[in-house]
Amino acid sequence: MKKFADVIVPLPIMGQYTYAIPEELEEKVCAGIRAIVPFGKKKYYTALITRVHEEAPEEYETKEIVETLDEKPILLKRQYDFWQWIADYYLCTLGDVYKAALPSGMKLESETLVEYNPDYEAETTLTEKEQRVLDALSHDTEQCITQLEKATGVKNLLPVINRLLEKGALYIKEELKRSYKPRTEVFIRFSESVRDENDLHQLFNALTRAPKQLAALMKYVELSGWVRPGCLLKEVSRKTLLQEANVTPAIVSGLVEKHIFELYHQEVGRLAKGILHTVPLNPLSEAQQKAYNEIIQSFVSKQVCLLHGVTSSGKTEIYIHLIEQVLRTGKQVLYLLPEIALTTQITERLRKVFGNRLGIYHSKFPDAERVEIWQKQLSEHDYDVILGVRSSVFLPFRRLGLVIVDEEHENTYKQQDPAPRYHARNAAMVLASMSGAKTLLGTATPCIETYYNATHGKYGFVELTERHQQIQLPEIEVVDIKELNRKKRMTAQFSPLLLQKIREALEQKEQVILFQNRRGFAPMIECRTCGWVPKCKNCDVSLTYHKGLNQLACHYCGYTELVPKSCPACGGVELVSRGFGTEKVEDSIKEIFPDARVARMDLDTTRTRTAYERIIDDFEAGKTDILIGTQMVSKGLDFDRVSVVGILNADSMLNYPDFRSYERAFQLMAQVAGRAGRKNKRGLVVLQTKQPDLPLIHEVVTNDYARLFHEQIEERRLFRYPPFYRLIYVYLKHRKQEVLDQAADLMANVLRQGLGERILGPDLPPVARIQTLYIKKIMIKVEQQASISKVRTYLRQVQRMFAEDERFRSLLVYYDVDPM
Ligand code: ADP
Ligand code: ZN
Ligand code: ZN
Repeated sequence: MKKFADVIVPLPIMGQYTYAIPEELEEKVCAGIRAIVPFGKKKYYTALITRVHEEAPEEYETKEIVETLDEKPILLKRQYDFWQWIADYYLCTLGDVYKAALPSGMKLESETLVEYNPDYEAETTLTEKEQRVLDALSHDTEQCITQLEKATGVKNLLPVINRLLEKGALYIKEELKRSYKPRTEVFIRFSESVRDENDLHQLFNALTRAPKQLAALMKYVELSGWVRPGCLLKEVSRKTLLQEANVTPAIVSGLVEKHIFELYHQEVGRLAKGILHTVPLNPLSEAQQKAYNEIIQSFVSKQVCLLHGVTSSGKTEIYIHLIEQVLRTGKQVLYLLPEIALTTQITERLRKVFGNRLGIYHSKFPDAERVEIWQKQLSEHDYDVILGVRSSVFLPFRRLGLVIVDEEHENTYKQQDPAPRYHARNAAMVLASMSGAKTLLGTATPCIETYYNATHGKYGFVELTERHQQIQLPEIEVVDIKELNRKKRMTAQFSPLLLQKIREALEQKEQVILFQNRRGFAPMIECRTCGWVPKCKNCDVSLTYHKGLNQLACHYCGYTELVPKSCPACGGVELVSRGFGTEKVEDSIKEIFPDARVARMDLDTTRTRTAYERIIDDFEAGKTDILIGTQMVSKGLDFDRVSVVGILNADSMLNYPDFRSYERAFQLMAQVAGRAGRKNKRGLVVLQTKQPDLPLIHEVVTNDYARLFHEQIEERRLFRYPPFYRLIYVYLKHRKQEVLDQAADLMANVLRQGLGERILGPDLPPVARIQTLYIKKIMIKVEQQASISKVRTYLRQVQRMFAEDERFRSLLVYYDVDPM
């Protein structure tokens, strides 16, 4: 019988395609492996096989699979089930999930850009095709695969490229991460000639007439704790050896020439290959032990548990104990962190305890490294603990026992663009339950829905109300800046109280954090004469002024232009800025405190992971006095010397037209306040606002989460929001406003026919045009008791109807399920 395979292609296409399996591949094909398939005109993709069968499709003539890439499945059955859940729940395609799940190197397509690795040295002979690719790339070092096919005259290069990637001769070009340069250092190891202690002793004897080389050698043995090849306590960098042995680089080079040492490059901070020292766990305090026991207890009857613990109460310590416990049973742990919080701080804490049983998965890591981790997770030597961001829920886990979602309230767990627009916390809970694992959610400021579920019996609920060693929560002083503005007593963005406290902190060599949730210099500029405001030409927003770059920038599409010298509307030359962002705060602070060492942390200053780490490291080491930043400075960082935190303008967080804006403002302020005062003394937070009487401000001051919750939950009930209703936003986008209006009205009508009152809109979203596309939004509110799967089925039907309508050919429709 002729055999066929159903495959997922990395394209936003509903359903799967069936390909014929040529006879010579029949033995090799099975579900879960990748194969190269032709698709469309002369294009090839890496597809994923999901099923092998003997049913020829009736609607179309099948094409043939070109080649298989794997001998064993790279996707476990359980992962495939998880993909299907994501596609179904978040109303996207399996192709979307496939694209999000696999690192680029594992899903080559004709458009993939590859580049030459200049450091590559062939270890085995290359095939003729492989050689031709490398030759072509030596002329033009980065090309897409289609280009290479032309240049080499080879028809389908995907399998060849794939092999070259595996050999390390090529890289995937990573457009967005171009600026990523791993911090590498030169390390030293013994060459293969040094196999055991005998060899070593012979060397010692041989080197008696080169005392400096001998000294370097002995120092190396001491520092590395070398026992035999592959077994050492610590990797030793050349720099360290030079310092410690007090020799010149020429001495080490001499040892390399004698084939005793080898040099290798390694990214600093990556896991050592040898055996590492690990330290015993900190014993838990009484309160922590109690919380730990309660968590274990709750897992007896519940799938999920919320650990609500104030900042610095030792949640991380509890996680570490739980991980240890789970590892003892032979299971794995996935530890999720929000993208930006994945700092060296937490990595180092976990690494100290778990050594090389810990793997780290980050979107800013080079693709090759992510491929490596994926493959490792499929092998017998998989990591026991994965510390990772959102996308690590897609990694293969063969024996998952626990998922920890730290800072579970963070909205960066929700992917906004592109599809799948999944929420990693919620997806992780599903993954865990599919794997027979438990989920622990931890935070000081829970998401309203999570807290509701925890206090209504759906999740376990454990609280930690005191900080470790009874360090006090910071004192929060509210300053009414409306009043001060009126009396003209503000200096730039600072109240007299805040300035005084900053000054005192600096005098006592303490540190200050200033928080303003807006980057750039000013959110807009305006002509003083006629009120003209520069707008983005692609989007419906005003441009943000970036003074350092003398630029106006759109924060939605990235469009930039130079700041005009005069107003194009009236010719006036006085352009004034309105509002302020972190850049302006930095400017003012430097003017007021010229001797202070100031750093700024926001999206503009942290384009690369290393830049981000450097700012944190410097602040930790006391090389910076004042750290100014957006919400990035609020993310679970521990600093010991911060005595003052300034929240410059609480109001800017409250004016978003979103049902979550109060909740989020509370979370941000509570989190950033939590950075103040650590080991030595009580910290101070100066909270500047124009609305000091707002209940929310009072709740922040008294750290009264329960009260915030009760207020918010009543509003949610009243206005039909989560957790009482599920939300789905339908977005429609089109280049032409008329077509969009027509489509949106029609769609809302059709949806109303099936779903009635649950449909609201169409409305204009806050930004109604982005990247030259007009946008409309339809909101669907589904009561908790109703069948959400019926709603999804109906939505898909309606979408198909629109897809077949000639008038709406280039209409984009997508869904945001459980929007954040
Ligand atoms: P959270 O995660 O709740 O913010 P952490 O676990 O980071 O709290 O704890 C805050 C600080 O207190 C950290 O520096 C941590 O090392 C220390 N700490 C907490 N619990 C213990 C413990 N049981 N033993 C030693 N140090 C602890
Ligand atoms: Zn003007
Ligand atoms: Zn724009």
